[in-house]
Amino acid sequence: MKLLRVVSVMTLLVLLPAALNAQAPLDKMADEELAWLLATYKHFHSNPELSYEEKETAARVADELRQLGFEVTENVGNYNVAGRTSYGLVAVLRNGPGPTVWVRTDLDGLPVEEKTGLPYASRVRAKIAAGETGVMHACGHDLHMTNFLGTAKLLTRMKDRWSGTLVLLGQPAEEVGAGATAMLRDGLYTRFPRPDFVIALHDAAALPAGTVGLREGYALASADSVDIIVRGAGGHGAYPHTTKDPIVLASQIVLALQTIRSREINPQDAAVVTVGSFHAGTKHNIIPDEARLQLTIRSYKPEVRQKIISSIERISRGLAEAAGIPPERAPTVTLSDGTPSTYNDPALTQRLAGVFERVLGKDNVIHTDPVMGAEDFSHYTLEGRQIPTSMFWLGAVAPARWKEAQEKGETLPSLHSAQFAPDAEMALRTGVRAMTAAVLDLMQTPK
Ligand SMILES: [Zn+2]
Ligand SMILES: [Zn+2]
Repeated sequence: MKLLRVVSVMTLLVLLPAALNAQAPLDKMADEELAWLLATYKHFHSNPELSYEEKETAARVADELRQLGFEVTENVGNYNVAGRTSYGLVAVLRNGPGPTVWVRTDLDGLPVEEKTGLPYASRVRAKIAAGETGVMHACGHDLHMTNFLGTAKLLTRMKDRWSGTLVLLGQPAEEVGAGATAMLRDGLYTRFPRPDFVIALHDAAALPAGTVGLREGYALASADSVDIIVRGAGGHGAYPHTTKDPIVLASQIVLALQTIRSREINPQDAAVVTVGSFHAGTKHNIIPDEARLQLTIRSYKPEVRQKIISSIERISRGLAEAAGIPPERAPTVTLSDGTPSTYNDPALTQRLAGVFERVLGKDNVIHTDPVMGAEDFSHYTLEGRQIPTSMFWLGAVAPARWKEAQEKGETLPSLHSAQFAPDAEMALRTGVRAMTAAVLDLMQTPK
């Protein structure tokens, strides 16, 4: 008993100054890099590129990492679409024996015309299927990339303080949910050192800069797009009895789909079924042949996801049958490549929370609720959660603005908003320290 007490006092005496010392150079180094970080951020912010088109962005990230001594491989990823190039990149820094830690950033911007009025606001325009659009880093992936490069810089400056393999992953096409699978399909975990951990951050438009947010377990939802073509038999609007009206049938389907959430799913399980698009017909007095619905569905548990999908099929076919549509004209229900829910490994997430509390202070580490948004970061754990992964939130709102909004009960611009304007300086100073400390800690994992 007495011996134990002596040991614990000695441990404290040894560990306490070490912990304090570990933090001081981190703060100092982050401050030293701040001007560079801000300049890099503004560059990315002013020069966003859409999903699948991240050519210059990826080249800049690759260039910075090469200068830091990373071995960089570009054009990693296979979209399975002829002629489409992936701008995914993987940068490896081998620094002795130890764990392999991966850090991921995404690279793409969004078809949003920026309305922040910032001096470095994006003026980039691009052609898309629907016409011309402004392009903006409205999801803050510019913040992610800068944070990622800042972390790389600090870790290369501190190479004597960690041992292991650091892999930095620059992922394209996150906003279309295609980049992660494209990179995994291209042998991500066989061509490069297989990860012991994969971590990432995402900026948060509802948290003040200076804070981070964590959630163990389900943190973001799965997202699936469903297309339903409701087929009827068209004709004159004045003679409905000679037709099978797909608009009336599709309307019944839209309403009945809402009973999945309210009547078929356990109320304790989160789920969303949204019909975001309903198109049919050309003119007032013509009953068309078909109606087209586009849905997004969200959930956390894979079994809930499956249940929703099968219920959509059953309801669509059942109501068509009730309307007298012959079986060969039953609605077609097509599911596109979805994104699974993001599950933050509990042990890894708790470990990160401990690191962040030490580096940022307990008050700046917030335990957040899960959200129904989705992230294709979820793919990196692989089927059956083989690899521990965790994504944390990085507060992005200027603290004074956040406080004012809280007091006045105002809603702040969300991610993807044309008005989203992060407090980059504070968010980067926080994010770079948090991510660097996280990697340093994970590199201490016994092999
Ligand atoms: Zn986004
Ligand atoms: Zn995003």
